Amino acid sequence: MSLTHALASLRQAAYPPSCLLCGQRMMDPDAAICLSCERGMPRLQPPFCQRCGVSQPGAWDSAMWCRRCQRTPAAFAFARAPLVYAGPAREAIQAFKYRQHHRLGAWLAAHMTSVARRQVPMSEVEAVLPVPMHWFKQRWRGQHSCALLAQSIASSFGLPCPDGALIRTRWTPAQSSLTPTQRFRNVSGAFAVRRLPARRVLLVDDVLTSRATAHACAEALRQAGADAVWVLAAAITPLRAP
Ligand SMILES: [Zn+2]
Ligand SMILES: [Zn+2]
Repeated sequence: MSLTHALASLRQAAYPPSCLLCGQRMMDPDAAICLSCERGMPRLQPPFCQRCGVSQPGAWDSAMWCRRCQRTPAAFAFARAPLVYAGPAREAIQAFKYRQHHRLGAWLAAHMTSVARRQVPMSEVEAVLPVPMHWFKQRWRGQHSCALLAQSIASSFGLPCPDGALIRTRWTPAQSSLTPTQRFRNVSGAFAVRRLPARRVLLVDDVLTSRATAHACAEALRQAGADAVWVLAAAITPLRAP
């Protein structure tokens, strides 16, 4: 055993890593969350809307679009995510976004990469871009969570993830207090493409709620000449009952 390894195991014996969600001690020093939190994660299971990826429990046909997509189809080809934005998945994403737990970011990116491998035509994707954050918000928060996820996913596939290709042109009020229609209006025209890095793009978001932000980004990319935009998020919020 090398000295570095010996020191690492000594450190682990003295300070065993703990789960970032429940605080339970863990054996794996690289893990972000414990096995029981991992098992309790609400995963997005089929049947889901083929367009926006939202879970449609009880739907008889998984090829169906949800009622939102039937009403207003988004500008992206389709969206997929590993998790439902609820319970421990919501906690994990918030801990990564607001408390900057990078181990959780790596854990989320690994799950997103695995969904991309299985459900997105990655051989067609030429570049990965994050949903941009307003520069002021980024300075205030100190990290851009979508950019960190996008860079990690891009490097897993050996794809470029250029900085500043897609930008937010104006400050938009937080979407959480708005109705779905207001959300679309709020972000409409709020994004611009500085230079299109590729015609087939994978857009990375953290949480997909009303689809308004991803739709506005995809629309800006399509107007700049993109042929296809797919969306990969860490989680999708469950569809509320009508
Ligand atoms: Zn745990
Ligand atoms: Zn849908």
